[in-house]
Amino acid sequence: MIIVSACLLGLNTRYDGSTNVQALLKKYSSSGKFIPVCPEQLGGLPTPRVPVEIIGGTGQDVLSGRCEVQGKRGEIVTSEFILGAKEVIKIVEMVTVTAAILKERSPSCGVNFIYDGSFSHRIKSGQGVMAAILKGHNITIYSEDDLTEGKLIELLNDRI
Ligand code: SF4
Repeated sequence: MIIVSACLLGLNTRYDGSTNVQALLKKYSSSGKFIPVCPEQLGGLPTPRVPVEIIGGTGQDVLSGRCEVQGKRGEIVTSEFILGAKEVIKIVEMVTVTAAILKERSPSCGVNFIYDGSFSHRIKSGQGVMAAILKGHNITIYSEDDLTEGKLIELLNDRI
């Protein structure tokens, strides 16, 4: 099974109640291999919700207690982010998950990049909180930006 950021499959889970639907993933959404997750919703945050960024670090730093996830006005949602990421790990422990395909730049799901904490659309290298916890559990993570159809078919055919 493949964990997928729910917004990439067309679910309206984004902070503003919209979606990041990605045509390639949508094309294969009836494969029965995808598990859509939104860690921010799983952590108890509402939709719509305040946009937040990781301040002064990365998802790994958040998990280590070295920095916070917060909104522009200082709303701290670190505990919800960590709870949501741990809920996804519960799924990983229940079924065989071979990979995860996640939304780039998100403070939860970013694989290679996240917003830099300045709320000015600038990005920096690093993973979001859920991406970091999945990587820590040895799940191979892919950004939707890097995914080709050939790679996706390979992942869908993976019997491990
Ligand atoms: S937390 Fe991840 S799955 Fe949820 S809306 Fe943001 S990018 Fe999509």
